[in-house]
Amino acid sequence: MTVLEDVANHVKRIAPRAICDDCLATAVEITPRQHANRKTNILKDEPGFDRRVDVCSTCGGTKKVIRYASGTTRRAAPG
Ligand SMILES: [Zn+2]
Repeated sequence: MTVLEDVANHVKRIAPRAICDDCLATAVEITPRQHANRKTNILKDEPGFDRRVDVCSTCGGTKKVIRYASGTTRRAAPG
């Protein structure tokens, strides 16, 4: 499994809670920590992922967080 998949899986697991890059780096054990920022920047373009400045559910800080909003898309499922 790639680091990106680890990150995506963790964000999905804690959904709909948001998590900041720092807490994500700790949770998924990304080193160096700055790499979490790259992963979330990739994930934000994936369907269902939302990246914005908000309150982190883990550390309580207001910073760049990412969350996965499953089932909230209004787009009809194909097939
Ligand atoms: Zn945090």
